[in-house]
Amino acid sequence: MHTATRPPPRAEAELKIENLRIGFKKNGREFHAVRGIDFELKRCETLALVGESGCGKTVTALSILRLLAEPPAKVLSGSIRLGGVDLLGLSEEGIRKVRGREIAMIFQDPMTSLNPVLSIGEQIMETLRRHTSLGRKNLEQRAVDLLRRVEIPSPVEKLRQYPHQLSGGMRQRVMIAIALSCEPRILIADEPTTALDVLVQAQIMDLLKQLKADTGLSILLITHDLGIVSEIADRALVMYAGEIVESGPVAQLFQSPLHPYTRGLLTSVPQIGRRPAAGRLQEITGQVPRPEERPAGCAFHPRCPSAMDRCLTDAPVLEEKRPGRRASCWLEQDAP
Ligand code: SF4
Repeated sequence: MHTATRPPPRAEAELKIENLRIGFKKNGREFHAVRGIDFELKRCETLALVGESGCGKTVTALSILRLLAEPPAKVLSGSIRLGGVDLLGLSEEGIRKVRGREIAMIFQDPMTSLNPVLSIGEQIMETLRRHTSLGRKNLEQRAVDLLRRVEIPSPVEKLRQYPHQLSGGMRQRVMIAIALSCEPRILIADEPTTALDVLVQAQIMDLLKQLKADTGLSILLITHDLGIVSEIADRALVMYAGEIVESGPVAQLFQSPLHPYTRGLLTSVPQIGRRPAAGRLQEITGQVPRPEERPAGCAFHPRCPSAMDRCLTDAPVLEEKRPGRRASCWLEQDAP
């Protein structure tokens, strides 16, 4: 297993999202699943998008590569810039060139992402064929090199095998090999280890760290798992009900969370070396509201142990509360 050192993130943004708002039509009414979010992914940075299911993380990730089904989804406003190019303004042909070549994506369950009737080699070479002019022999060699890079043993033999012949961890490594085949600048990893056991999760995270150190890749990691965030991410954005409610460097966010939702997420999972304050883990009561049932005021107020009268009617705005840290909560607003 590698022990990769993290290359520091650079100042320049690889990806810049501004005022992104995404709606869904349901029963003739429009609901907003992502509500005007802004963020940047810097070069060589691992940025985690964190929150429970239904917070808008995956919708945000899919919108970057324009993979949302339209309709029922619709991007209502905003821009998604890769370098100087707004991905939302590209033609279908233009965005196809970005997918895989500039930005690649891996998903939670590699079994449903891989084609069961195509060999591993064919699936890797298919992406390479789409974006390069390599001949058959070079394609095969490149596929073997990629399998070796993601530390799959006996890569020549694996090229001829089918997904069902590999373990879950090996299948996820194949997905990573396919994602990296055209040397993208950005990898979006949507819950990449959720379907794997703990040991294999750690190996996949270690592999991603190593690949980032070797290639200068920027990673947008979508996860609900704070253990993974602390292990691999430089910064985190906490999403709730379609909004970013807190953002900042991971170490500071874990040490002194500013938003009650972040605090709730942290106290609801075991952390090595830290005893829960009340002697047991504290869960956040209730559930994330569906977009059509969003409460007035602060959307977190029905679940917030610190809610005040004002929270029921007035929505707080995401603002810088400390250098490099943003949060949207009236408590922080009123803090000295
Ligand atoms: Fe809780 Fe109010 Fe802060 Fe919302 S604004 S997180 S309800 S204290």
